Amino acid sequence: MTKTDTSVKDLSGRVLAARAETEARGETFYPGASRIHLAAFPPKERWDDWVELDSKSWPKRVERRYALVPTTCFNCESACGLLAYIDKDTQQIRKFEGNPEHPGSRGRNCAKGPATLNQISDPDRILHPLKRVGARGEGQWVQASWDEALNDIAARIRRAIVEERRNEVMYHVGRPGEDGFTERILAAWGIDGHNSHTNICSSSARAGYALWMGIDRPSPDHANADVILLISSHLESGHYFNPHAQRIMEAKQNGAKVIVFDTRMSNTATHADHWLAPYPGSEAAILLAIANHLIQHGRYDREFVRRWWNWAEYMAAEHPQVPHTFEQFERELKQVYREYTFEYAAAESGVEASAIEAIAAVVEKAGTRLSTHTWRSAGSGNLGGWEVSRCLFLLNALAGAIATEGGVYPNAWNKFVPRPIHVSPHPRHWNDLTWPGEYPLAMNEMSFLLPHFLKEGRGRLEVYVTRVYNPVWTNPDGFSWIEMLKDESKVGLHVALTPTWSETAYFADYVLPMGHASERHDIHSYETHDAQWVALRQPVLRALRDRLGDPVDDTRAVNPGEVWEENEFWIELTWRIDPNGDLGIRRYVESVNNPGTKLGVDEYYAYIFEHSVPGLPARAAEAGMTPLEFMRRYGAFEIRKRVGALNEEPVPAGELSGVAEDPFGRVYTTAPKPPLLNVVPLPTPDDDPQGRRPVGVNVDGRVLRGFPTPSGRLEFYSTTLAQWGWGECAIPAYLESHVHRSRMAEDEMPLISTFRLPVHIHTRSANAKWLDEIAHTNPLWLHPSDAARLAVTTGDLVRVFTRTGHFIVKAWVTEGIRPGVVACSHHMGRWKLSDTGNRQMMRTVALKRSGTEWDLETTRLVTPFESADPDTRRIWWADVGVHQNLAFPVQPDPVSGMHCWHQAVRVTKAQPGDRAGDIAVDTQKSHEIFKEWLQLTRGASAYSPDGTRRPYWLLRPLKPARDVYRLARAGQQ
Ligand code: SF4
Repeated sequence: MTKTDTSVKDLSGRVLAARAETEARGETFYPGASRIHLAAFPPKERWDDWVELDSKSWPKRVERRYALVPTTCFNCESACGLLAYIDKDTQQIRKFEGNPEHPGSRGRNCAKGPATLNQISDPDRILHPLKRVGARGEGQWVQASWDEALNDIAARIRRAIVEERRNEVMYHVGRPGEDGFTERILAAWGIDGHNSHTNICSSSARAGYALWMGIDRPSPDHANADVILLISSHLESGHYFNPHAQRIMEAKQNGAKVIVFDTRMSNTATHADHWLAPYPGSEAAILLAIANHLIQHGRYDREFVRRWWNWAEYMAAEHPQVPHTFEQFERELKQVYREYTFEYAAAESGVEASAIEAIAAVVEKAGTRLSTHTWRSAGSGNLGGWEVSRCLFLLNALAGAIATEGGVYPNAWNKFVPRPIHVSPHPRHWNDLTWPGEYPLAMNEMSFLLPHFLKEGRGRLEVYVTRVYNPVWTNPDGFSWIEMLKDESKVGLHVALTPTWSETAYFADYVLPMGHASERHDIHSYETHDAQWVALRQPVLRALRDRLGDPVDDTRAVNPGEVWEENEFWIELTWRIDPNGDLGIRRYVESVNNPGTKLGVDEYYAYIFEHSVPGLPARAAEAGMTPLEFMRRYGAFEIRKRVGALNEEPVPAGELSGVAEDPFGRVYTTAPKPPLLNVVPLPTPDDDPQGRRPVGVNVDGRVLRGFPTPSGRLEFYSTTLAQWGWGECAIPAYLESHVHRSRMAEDEMPLISTFRLPVHIHTRSANAKWLDEIAHTNPLWLHPSDAARLAVTTGDLVRVFTRTGHFIVKAWVTEGIRPGVVACSHHMGRWKLSDTGNRQMMRTVALKRSGTEWDLETTRLVTPFESADPDTRRIWWADVGVHQNLAFPVQPDPVSGMHCWHQAVRVTKAQPGDRAGDIAVDTQKSHEIFKEWLQLTRGASAYSPDGTRRPYWLLRPLKPARDVYRLARAGQQ
């Protein structure tokens, strides 16, 4: 019937018409490899056998048949859906594209998603466990077996546990990419050993949000907003980059106005209706000027403020002598912010008052459709940066744009963490190396101070595991990290779990290869919009074997070399720590179906999907699958759309037995907590003195759920800050940054070092050749007026002096930066010590040391090289930028604990002999600066109002048992 082999049932009407026309001309019709016309995505019904033409065989039409298997991207926190295209003939992954079934990313990815292909086929990736020989950091390795590594590590951890040296075991995570698996393993070991990168990343933003609503992240509903106010570059690289960016663009198409604060002209700023380039650190002053405008003109949602702010607590604490009416509060509110005029903000920020006023007018019109977001950016750059997110959220709180369509939700409401098969108890230990007494309000572990704490003799580590983390390169003050890691009296064993070579892995004892996005299991859920979803990252070749009825039970069987996945690794390690179960640890990794045997990942995930994800079993049954089969097949499941305002939900009568109410309407109950499937970590406001748990808040006579804050309301007034020694910051305020003009010398400029490049993450993207070709260097952004003053032009070398040393970098003269400010992206300057390691983005360097003085000098640039991938012969770049973080001292914010990244620098022309990328640092100076910043703290021993180390209600990853919070136990493990 036809000249082609295409069956009629596969063809759409348009294709049939096209075929008729073609055949009428007597030509052979080719319907397209997909057999349908212009499908946006392969329909999921055809994922078993998807046909496409081989691009490299063009102009011949060579068809390739694929099995499409979903997973999620591991290259940033967004966890967008990917579809692996697995060649059915070779069972090799040929590409990654978006998974249209993923509710967060909806089939779209940024460049880093498809570049997963480069990472898995990188000729320099680590394929086998390696053990160092020679001195640590000397760069000599031998291949080890997994058994050897596991037995050694397990024996040391067991010994530390048995000898009650539990605080000597530490796990330090970079990109988590999973919801709580490893925290539960550490809890099972009974250690307070979780360390994260968060205090060099987002702690200040978290602090600002947590102080308001208990929950430390926002979930902006960008798509439905009328006004979007961003303090960072969300469209190009921000938090939840692709899922948020696509929704921001949707809103723009619907007429939303976008306001961007960014001292630098980011790609996001180019899409803005209003772009402000404030002096770094002045952002909160602008936000308060906008807030003051709304307050003075009564342009706020009075009813929302009256019902949901804890204004009554504020009045009782700060204005006890006047009547505690809402009207009186409004009068006080006008008073307290009256000095934040547009002119004041203009003087602080250098932005014209008229521009700030224009923005205030736009914000004023947004009403409850005001979507705002800040994450790293200004919050992470400045002393007091946590006030940036706090003052930004103040605008939402005034507008009533919280948990509204187009507003901002607490992230925990738009996220679902399913209850797992085993729940480990809270550890009964407190680790002062990560949660030191000086920082009782720190949002996360004081991770970047570890070398200084060990230098001061505060402890040692027997086993230190870095996991997808590269503190030598990512953290400030990397030479102090090198000093610490090289000292075996301080770090007994360093294990690097990493898919790729990193600067930190060179100073490990074991380098253990872990999988990329298509080589590992993880479960996750993120606040990409007002909904709840879960997604499964999975080893796609293993999932395909399942689909074909040829299952494997060890992911190493399908991964390249001996690359493993972490779930199986942790289960195995835990088993070997407690092989007989005598420590009570083994039971947390035992099978429930077959007691006494090891838990497998199939059972682990099958349990979660069958028991803990509402709606999934029924949906899977409709599709004729088990819940695990469904997730392996489609990769994601949307549990709930439009979660809405959970604070407004009435507390059911069954939870209101034996209730009591405090003077401000916080309601407590004696009713037991109902069991939850969604175990997303939430703050835990204190019980009342009678031991009743907080259950809601009385709003106009009805007990509503409210927010997980001590008051149950949005905390305009933070009793926590007031009680823990920071009374002057009890309400949202503007704090002068450490790079405030008044603190800078005449010849100093602020250096912005926090911005990302859209195509890179941190360490792991260096192994993606497509991304490297697009971006491989990080010049210093310099305004023409500054360039003229310094007599430099684009491409000239400059010296940038910090307080601990200097680095050499090329200048890029651009009007895209505020005069008097310089900027340098933190993605570049990768290095290696020998030929071992990444060759496309890491230059080879020599580290020279004289006492506490260090130099990093380039010995070989990046050059083309021979490998199985012909593209490595085509590498055309040699300059891979500068590792500026090495020259930054630690600058911990005394409240949030965040490293304040901005630097006060002097920039000069380079000196004779200077070479791009060279760095010099004195770690003694950095230790002195550590001590200077320590003086800013108000520690628990002097300021704790109740004899505890930290407010119990605040979020903490891996929260210890309640009684361990008591300071009386200090010194005990
Ligand atoms: S935004 Fe890009 S890097 Fe991040 S998860 Fe999505 S595709 Fe991956």
